[in-house]
Amino acid sequence: MASLEGGLGALATASGLAAQLCGVLSLAQAGDHLLCSQNVYGGTITQLSVTIKRMGIETTFVPVDDLAAMRAAVRPNTRLLLCETIGNPSGTIADLHALASIAHDHGIPLLVDNTFASPYLCRPIEHGADLVVQSATKFLCGHGTTVGGVLVDSGRFDFGNGRFPLLSTESPGYHGKVFTETFGEYAFLMRARAEVLRDVGAQLAPMDAWLLLQGIETLPIRMERHVANARLVANYLRGHADVAWVAHPDFADAQQRELAARYLPRGAGAVFTFGLRGGRDAGRRFIDALELWSHLANVGDAKSLVIHPASTTHSQLSDDEMRNAGVAPESVRLSVGLEDIEDLIWDLNNGLRAVAAGATVSA
Ligand SMILES: *Cc1c(COP(=O)(O)O)cnc(C)c1O
Repeated sequence: MASLEGGLGALATASGLAAQLCGVLSLAQAGDHLLCSQNVYGGTITQLSVTIKRMGIETTFVPVDDLAAMRAAVRPNTRLLLCETIGNPSGTIADLHALASIAHDHGIPLLVDNTFASPYLCRPIEHGADLVVQSATKFLCGHGTTVGGVLVDSGRFDFGNGRFPLLSTESPGYHGKVFTETFGEYAFLMRARAEVLRDVGAQLAPMDAWLLLQGIETLPIRMERHVANARLVANYLRGHADVAWVAHPDFADAQQRELAARYLPRGAGAVFTFGLRGGRDAGRRFIDALELWSHLANVGDAKSLVIHPASTTHSQLSDDEMRNAGVAPESVRLSVGLEDIEDLIWDLNNGLRAVAAGATVSA
């Protein structure tokens, strides 16, 4: 994984959220502050704004495309800037170079959650990121059989710049060693592995590691097909009268398309949302009518998956938080799989017909 992401080294963890937790706790402690894109996975928002907040580490969430607000939100005690390459589920693409500049101007690292792109579509370290997190549960695994995570370090960030006492002063949890002095460019990874992962206990189990390595063997072939199928599905939906909008990067505004061309030249992934005319009820009817698409909260599976975020993945967020994360009540999220495109569209067409029939009945 270090090689695929272009990093110095990597740490395997029990889940994507465990990888993120290890990253955060390696750099921040009570009294510190984090800055995070608002356009991220609901579980990340909850982890930062509830669990990590209870540890005394506060997070400010800022829209990922509001770079001025992002810059203005950095505080003297900010330790990390977090974003997703492609936001889950809004699909918002982050301007990695610009965010890296903001972070580096303030002496803090940029951590990029690269789950939706996988290292096949984007290598954030080549665009200025210092740390990368993967939920290996998704495209890396590829078959919905495993939960796992990876934390990659570029090895380029200077954690001895005075802002990271956890790394640059004697550690009572590790023989009184000063990580930056003892381990040099490996300081972050050594603390993340030998101290934080050890104490959190979120190691990746051997069987899961084996399954993930099998998945990674076919990553390039799967990603090509995921991207191609997603484009065809998005085009089909865009032409359908009962579909209000399709948030696929191919149809985004000029700025987002420019970011996609710059950071994701092989395609902007296979997870995107669309809105049904008819709102929340239409979403439920649509999903109930599908046969081939599985109703599941996972993404990145070889099988095509569909979910209604407002009643599932984002149900623990308030309406405001949900809107801030880019989720509308009528949003349906697709993770387009590897099946024959004609079968996928046949099934979606059945779902849309059920929506139309339901609308007639209730009228
Ligand atoms: C699923 C997901 C996570 C969390 O990963 P787990 O392996 O389920 O802990 C983090 N970020 C993104 C973008 C995800 O889609």
